[in-house]
Formats: sequence, structure tokens, C-alpha cells
Amino acid sequence: MSVTATDTHCPYCALQCGMTLTPGIPVVKLEPREFPVNKGGLCAKGFTAADLLDHRDRLLTPLVRKTPGDRTSPLREATWDEALSLITDAIVNSQETYGRDSVGAFGGGGLTNEKAYALGKFVRVALRSASIDYNGRFCMSSAATAANRAFGVDRGLPFPLEDVAEARTVLLVGANPADAMPPSMQYLDTGRAAGAKHIVVDPRRTATANGAHLHLQPLPGTDLALANGMLHIAIREGFVDEAYIAERTTGFEAVKAATNAYWPERVERMTGVPETKIRETVRLLATNGPAMILTARGAEQHSNGTDTAQAWLNLALALGLVGKPYSGYGTITGQGNGQGGREHGQKADQLPGYRKLDDPAARAHVAAVWGIEEDELPKPGLSAYEMLDRLGTDGGVRVLMVLASNIAVSAPHSNRILDRLRALDFLVVSDIFLSETAELADVVLPTAQWAEEEGTMTNLEGRVLRRKRALPPPPDVRTDLEMLTELAERLGRGKFFSSDPRTVFEELRRASAGGIADYSGITYERIENEDGVFWPCPAEDHPGTPRLFADGFPTPSGRATFIKVDHRDPAEMPDKLFPYVLTTGRNMQQYQSGNQTRRVKALAVALPEPRAEIHPDLARRHGIADGDLVELRSRRGAAVLRARLSDGIRPDTVFAPFHWPGANALTNPALDPHSRMPAFKACAVAISSYTEGTE
Ligand code: SF4
Repeated sequence: MSVTATDTHCPYCALQCGMTLTPGIPVVKLEPREFPVNKGGLCAKGFTAADLLDHRDRLLTPLVRKTPGDRTSPLREATWDEALSLITDAIVNSQETYGRDSVGAFGGGGLTNEKAYALGKFVRVALRSASIDYNGRFCMSSAATAANRAFGVDRGLPFPLEDVAEARTVLLVGANPADAMPPSMQYLDTGRAAGAKHIVVDPRRTATANGAHLHLQPLPGTDLALANGMLHIAIREGFVDEAYIAERTTGFEAVKAATNAYWPERVERMTGVPETKIRETVRLLATNGPAMILTARGAEQHSNGTDTAQAWLNLALALGLVGKPYSGYGTITGQGNGQGGREHGQKADQLPGYRKLDDPAARAHVAAVWGIEEDELPKPGLSAYEMLDRLGTDGGVRVLMVLASNIAVSAPHSNRILDRLRALDFLVVSDIFLSETAELADVVLPTAQWAEEEGTMTNLEGRVLRRKRALPPPPDVRTDLEMLTELAERLGRGKFFSSDPRTVFEELRRASAGGIADYSGITYERIENEDGVFWPCPAEDHPGTPRLFADGFPTPSGRATFIKVDHRDPAEMPDKLFPYVLTTGRNMQQYQSGNQTRRVKALAVALPEPRAEIHPDLARRHGIADGDLVELRSRRGAAVLRARLSDGIRPDTVFAPFHWPGANALTNPALDPHSRMPAFKACAVAISSYTEGTE
């Protein structure tokens, strides 16, 4: 029997490292592969990804409740026909009684482009509902909104990752790639070896900060003041690029006036970052070029996350960094298809190609591709948390389909979300394991894993990649495209859908043509032959666009836009009852809600449980020793974690990883007014030794 090796990519983060899978014993042999982003590297998550293909917890058949309608009754195995019939009945009954928008879907940034596109289309064309959003709203939406406002386009990195190695100064704000995507560190390491200066802004001394030239430790929620303070210094010291500002931007004067209020002593008081470090950072960015500013969730997941990202963008523009070689502003996407997942229509307000659902021309274009009348398309719906917050209420979604997301763990204020999920009339979850969300479902659908289906992903650079099938899924497991097509058929809309990924991609190309994220020139063959293709790529003879902004910005004026932004306190400030700031984030061994990685033995052994990172001074005040159980409490809930004492974190701040249930019981769902991003990165908490705190 011939054994064929398949070149594909990791199922997890946005780096999308190349790997090769060869069918064998037990299921496949997984080896790292030379690919432009990882250059043969993989992290522990990637190396162990194949362990999940034949994991004993794998869902291998649909599950339904023993007593239909009673979610306290156990789940039992069912046929696909029975499961899909129950779902179809629930959809039809709900829409007849409560209207079309009473049925909705929640997608994920891990879905392939084809599946994200098909899900958005399924909700608009098969359900004819406005109710759809996805977990990328909790991830990238603030940086995306800021980039759209400034540049007229949101592509996480507007340059290939290899450019990072050539930059002489890199400012990383709220980013910890050493833990989140270790193979990406080779670019920073190469730069450092050649003398580059790296500055990390993070309330924790992370592994990334450890290797940096400078570490700035602001109080969570004060990054905007820090960025405005840097711009204040840049203006006063004559570091801004006047010619660049005049030729390539608009709106600088208002921003300049606003930064008057951010004099260094005040910014030091607001942020806790010494003035000398702020000045040194500005000096390096301005004089030790090429320089770039990269933000990630630490800067963005706040109730003012859009404005915070904007402040860093303003600084990059004022220094004339954007659009020059090895230079500029970028945001580091987290989820595997966080980039493509936000381009093709699973956002409440969006159509494929990064088009807007409320734009008449966009509606007409996409309706024509889909073969429907423009007025059949619904209006924009509610953002992720707003939709979840209303589940099961009058006017809210009553039947919800969840794909590639574990909202019971990953949504903010998770106790509230658990209540809302339980209040649904009907919950459907498609997953590979019985996640905490799937445990609440009326119907659970077993879906194919990454190595068992075809599709494309778009990585953090905007490079479109092929994810290829290395082996067939188990016999009673289906792909989400097959599931959506069959459901559409049962709803009388089957003629609009295909379960074949290549057919879906061909349609996506047409739907995206002329849009901001234009994939029309990208084919499966080109991706294969060219190690991925960067969008926008408007024609098959177009080379793709690895670097944006060299000649202009896709705004009406062709210029980038400065936007005046001011510091606002976090939505919840520490007080007498909840005196510390909680910030949440990632561990190296886990991915997102942990539904996959918590089941990988090697990863669980390396990090069996979540650890709350606490400064020794704070621990001493509460009689907490390293390894003790501690209870964290916020106004919304409590979580018990084991303490890890570290003098690398601010004494007024506690860090908790979000890969396990618990951290999001505490987090604040206050939303950014522009992006609707919840404030994951700053809420007020109290801390106590668990035995002392037990009530
Ligand atoms: Fe997978 Fe990301 Fe690790 Fe690469 S860095 S192996 S893509 S999880």
C-alpha cells in the first residue's frame, strides 16, 4: 500500500506553521515542514496536534437528549437523520412563532475560509436571519476597527513576518509571542542577534519581555495614555516626520493638540511607567529605524480597545513608519483563521470580501453572486456579546447553532452566558469534543478535524494557505460544509449551497471580487505553487500583495487618517471591595478555551491546571504561598486557582489564563463602543486564600 505524505498546516494559531502528515500508526505521523512562516519550527501544541485525531473523547456520532427538550436528561447517540430532523423542526417552529431572527449562529475564527463563508451565507440565505456573529469579535475586533479607520483596510500584518527580523526597533504592545506562537520568535531573535532593540509593553515580565532591551509595565487599561505620552514627546523633541505627515496623512493637527495633555510626568503617574523608559522608547522608534509597532490583545481587549490601538497607530503614522520597508504598524492575529474568519461574512455587519452589510452596492454584488434578490438579505445583526446576552429572551435568539467555539468558557461574564445558553429553546453545537458548551446542547454534531478536510486559511500576514485532507474522517463524522448543505436542503434552500470546499472557494472568489479583501485571483493551485498568496489579489495574473501601503492607503483620499483619542479609565476600576486589577491571557501549552489542548496528555502534564500569577508582596499581604489555592472574586463571579508567585507582575495586578473555565467568570463584558469588544484585559478583583475565602 502506498503511503502518501500530505503537506498542510497546524490546526491552532494564526502563524499556521507548515507540517507534513503521513498516514501511519496510530493515525498519522506529524512532522514539521519548511514553510516561509515557521521555517521548520513547531511549538508543543503543533507537535502534538495529531494526538486528537483518534482521541478517546472524540465525538463519533451525533448526540441528542434522551428526553427531547429536557437538557437534564443524558445525551444519547443518534443518527444524522434524527439529529438534523430535530434541528430542522426547531428552526422552522421558532421562525414561525418568533420570526426569522430568532434563529442564529455563532461561528469561530478557527473555521476555514470556506466554512466561515458558508456559515455567513447559510444564516443570510437559508435561515434568512440577521443573527450571526463569532468569537473573533472577542479577539481582533478593536485592532481591526482602528486599522479600518486609519488605513481603510484591516490586514493584521501589512507585511510578511520576515520583515520583523529586519527592523532595528520593534515595540510590542500587549503581545507575548514567546508563549503564544514560539516559532515566530525566530524573527525577533534574528533581529536581536543583529543588534535590534526590542521594547515590550506588558504588565507582566513575560518570556518575550525577558529578552527585550526595555520592558515597560503599565497598569492594565492605561496603554492609550502611554501611546499619547510617547507622541507628546515625539512632537516636543522634533521626532515626528513632518514631510510624511503632510504628504501621506490627514487629521494630524487635532491629534497634536490632544497630546498636549499627556506630558511625561502625568503619563508616568497614570501608567506607572518611568518617564526615562518612555523617552528612551520614543528615541529608539524615531532614530533607530527601520522601526515597527506591533499590538496584540493586551492593548486591544479593553472597553476602549479601538481607541487604544488607534493611539499606537497615530504614533506610527506621526513617526512616518507606515508603508516604508521593514517598518510600520501591525497587529498580531491570534486564532488560526482569525484573519480570514473576519473577512468573509460571519460578522454581524459583514458580507464576503470585507464588505459592509449596510452598503447597498455590497449587498447588490453579493446577492447577485448568491442568486437571490438584494432585499432578501437581512440587515446587520447584533455583535457577539450583545447577541449572547439576549439568548432566550423576547426578541433574542431562541435557537442557536454554535460552530468552532466554546462560548461557555471563552465569553466574558461566563456565568451570565451559561444562564443565557440554558434559557435557549434549542442549542446545537458542532464540535470534535464534548466542550463545556456542547454539554448544554440539545443536539451535538460530530465534525471533521483539520486533517480530515480541505480548505483554506488566511494567516496573520494575510497569506492565504491550503489546509489539505490527509485522511478521511471517521465513518459517522461529517464536515461542517456537509452539515450546512444538508440542513439548507431540509429548509428548502439547498440549491444555493455546496459541500465541496473547492466549489465554495470558487464562489468566495467571485463574492470577494472588488471588495477590500479581494481573493478573486487566488486559486488552490496558486496557493500550492507559491507557498500561499497574499490578499488583495484581484486577478489570476496579479502577484498578490505581501506589503501594503507603499504607494498609498485604500481610503477615499489615498491618505492615512489620524484620529484624536483620549484616555478613559477602564469600565471597572479597583475599589475597596475589589482592590486589584485582573488581566487574562495565554499559556504556552494551551490554545483558546482548551477544548482541544486540555485533552493532549503531553500538554496537560506540562501544565495540568491554571495558575494565577501574583506578585510576592501582594501574596504576603493575603498570607498566600506559592502553590496555594486562591479565590479570585469580581462583581460577576469567583474562580479558584493555584497561585504562582512572580516578581515579574505588577503588585496591583493579577494574571489568570483563560484556557480553563473560571477566568471568564470574573471578566467584565463592558463593550468598546466602536468594535463591541469586551473588556477582557482589565476588571476589578479581590483575592483571598481559598480556605480563608470559603463561605
Ligand atoms: Fe501551531 Fe501556532 Fe504552535 Fe505554529 S505556533 S505550531 S501554528 S500553535
